[in-house]
Amino acid sequence: MITPVLPTYARAPIAFDRGEGPFVFSTEGEQFLDFGAGVAVNSLGHAHPDLVRALTDQAGKLWHTSNLYKIPGQEKLAERLTQLTFADTVFFNNSGAEAMECAIKMARKHHAALGHPERFRLITFEGAFHGRTLATIAAGGQEKYLEGFGPKTDGFDQVPLGDLKAVKAAITPATAGILIEPIQGEGGIRAAEASFLRDLRKLCDEHGLLLVLDEIQCGVGRTGKLFAHEWAGIKPDIMAIAKAIGGGFPLGACLATEAAAAGMVAGTHGSTFGGNPLAMAVGNAVLDVVTANDFLDHVLEISKILRQRMARIVDENGDIFEELRGEGLMLGLKCKVPNTDVVNALFDQKLLAIGAGENVVRFLPPLTITADHIDAALQKIEAACATLREKQEKGAA
Ligand SMILES: *Cc1c(COP(=O)(O)O)cnc(C)c1O
Repeated sequence: MITPVLPTYARAPIAFDRGEGPFVFSTEGEQFLDFGAGVAVNSLGHAHPDLVRALTDQAGKLWHTSNLYKIPGQEKLAERLTQLTFADTVFFNNSGAEAMECAIKMARKHHAALGHPERFRLITFEGAFHGRTLATIAAGGQEKYLEGFGPKTDGFDQVPLGDLKAVKAAITPATAGILIEPIQGEGGIRAAEASFLRDLRKLCDEHGLLLVLDEIQCGVGRTGKLFAHEWAGIKPDIMAIAKAIGGGFPLGACLATEAAAAGMVAGTHGSTFGGNPLAMAVGNAVLDVVTANDFLDHVLEISKILRQRMARIVDENGDIFEELRGEGLMLGLKCKVPNTDVVNALFDQKLLAIGAGENVVRFLPPLTITADHIDAALQKIEAACATLREKQEKGAA
C-alpha cells in the first residue's frame, strides 16, 4: 500500500525535532553533528538567534500580500544583492529549481527581445544538476531523472565538464548561452577550473552568449567568497541562487544584469509566494550575518583546517578513500567502497554527511562551525573508517 507521503525519497529511518548550531537532535534524543546542513541550506546552523528573531518578528506583523503590491523586504534584499554582486536586478521565488527556471526563461527572452527568438538553446555540462522541474531535468540531462517523464524539454546541449573544444563545437546560431555550476554538488563535488570559467566568459563575449551560473549549492559564502565564481575573477550575466540564502526558509532568487534581463517586462514571469515578507525577513537576516566583518574570513580559515584534516584522512585511509575534492566548506571524499556504506558508517557515529555522484561523500557543514566541531567530526570519520575496515576484513575472511 502506498504511504500517505508520496514515496519518492529513500529516507533514513530517523526524524529530528530540534537543532542548535551544527547539532540536530532526533526524536529519540540522540545528538548528531550535522555536516550536511540540509544539503547546504542551514549555512548558519540550526536555530540561529538572528534568523529566529527575524522570522518571528515578521510572523507577528505580516506573512503574505502577493506580488500585486510592493514588498519592502524584496526591495531591500534586491538592492543589497545588486550592490554585492554583478547583478542589477533580482527575481525572488521559493526554490532552486524555480530560480533556474527563471534563469532559463530569462536567457531565452533576452535573445527574443533582441529579435532572435531562434536563439533559445543552452550549453550544459555532464554531471550537472539544476533541479527537478521538466526544464531543469532536461538541463541536467541525467537519464535517471528524465526516464518516464515524456519528451525531454528541448533546448539543452550537453558537453563534458572542462572540455572547451566541445563547448566551441556545440555553439550554433540557436545558442543563447552557457549554463554551469562553478562547483557541481549533486554531480560529486566537481569544481570547474577557474581558467575554464574564464574561457567560458570569453567565449560568451565573443559569440554574444549569456553566461548563466547555478550557484544554488556553492553560493552565499560556502567557498569563502560570497559567490564561488568570484574566485575565477569573472562575472556572469545571470545567476540562480537558493539553499543558503534562506538559511532553512524556502527562498530562491535569479540575479541578472540589466542587459540580460532586458526581455523580462511586466507580465513575463511571476510567482504567488515568491519573495513574501517572511522569506525576505529571513533572507535579509542571512545576508546580515554572511556579510558581517570577518564572517567570510572565518569560513576561509576554518575551511583550511577542515581541508588539511580531510587530506590526512585520505592519506591514512587509502583503502577507503581515493581523493579529496572541493573548495571552502564544500568538500567531497571520493570513495573506494560504496559511498552509501560510508554515509551509513558516519551516521552510526552520529555524523550527518550526504552522498553525491561519482561515489563521493559530501561534507557541507554550517559555515559557523569552529575548530572543535571539526575535531569532533574527524574523530567520527576515523571511527567510521575503523568500522568499515572491520566489516571488510570480516567479509574477506
Ligand atoms: C539543490 C540544487 C538545485 C535545485 O534546488 P531545489 O530547491 O531542490 O529546487 C539546483 N541546482 C543546484 C546546483 C542544486 O544544488
